[in-house]
Amino acid sequence: MNLRKLILTENACYKVGKKITPKGIMVHSTGANNPYLRRYVGPDDGLLGVNQYNNHWNQDRPDGKQVCVHAFIGKLKDGSIATYQTLPWDHRGWHAGGSANDTHIGFEICEDGLTDASYFNTVYKEAVGLCVYLCKLYNLTEKDIIGHYEGYQRGIASNHGDPKNWFSKHGKNMETFRADVKSLLNEGAKSGETEKKKYYRVQIGAYSVKANAEAQLAKAKKAGFTDAFIKYD
Ligand SMILES: [Zn+2]
Repeated sequence: MNLRKLILTENACYKVGKKITPKGIMVHSTGANNPYLRRYVGPDDGLLGVNQYNNHWNQDRPDGKQVCVHAFIGKLKDGSIATYQTLPWDHRGWHAGGSANDTHIGFEICEDGLTDASYFNTVYKEAVGLCVYLCKLYNLTEKDIIGHYEGYQRGIASNHGDPKNWFSKHGKNMETFRADVKSLLNEGAKSGETEKKKYYRVQIGAYSVKANAEAQLAKAKKAGFTDAFIKYD
């Protein structure tokens, strides 16, 4: 994942400054044919490129609407893919049009013409990576991830079909998405287990006479260090 940060400090949502405890993640796609991040994220940091219409979301009401999300995934000016964090993750966003704003981190994947499989597969993978990162950060699982349309089905978001409208064109859906997040989370957990086998050990003495070592061990155990042991090398 190519994670960068440009907080939309001019957006009214940022200015309200309300905090949440993230309980889930909501996946959105923009519903407009423009894969470039500069449409939504600005001003230009050198990588995004200049938005000549200056209609990015770093203003009070982008396109006259009260909207703001925690991140965008899309193209930089050189055509490579990046994720831009645009709100602090525990900030209350305006992405769901319902009560999910109180519980869910929301991010947008920038849609293109919906037919480019190479672009789709790259941003899909980037979105999986972002969710794995956020799950680890907030102790969430793949079960806590929903698409906007699933939020509507649960009565916690407005009536939108994203990102199903796009995912379905490339043989993906929120089930495959959650499964992909799950397998990466499991991989991470496995490598975490092997890491746990490394210890920082505390030594409290070194003796050439075994009886002296045993006396010290007894003292240590009596003092409450019941896991103390003697190692001879
Ligand atoms: Zn949406």
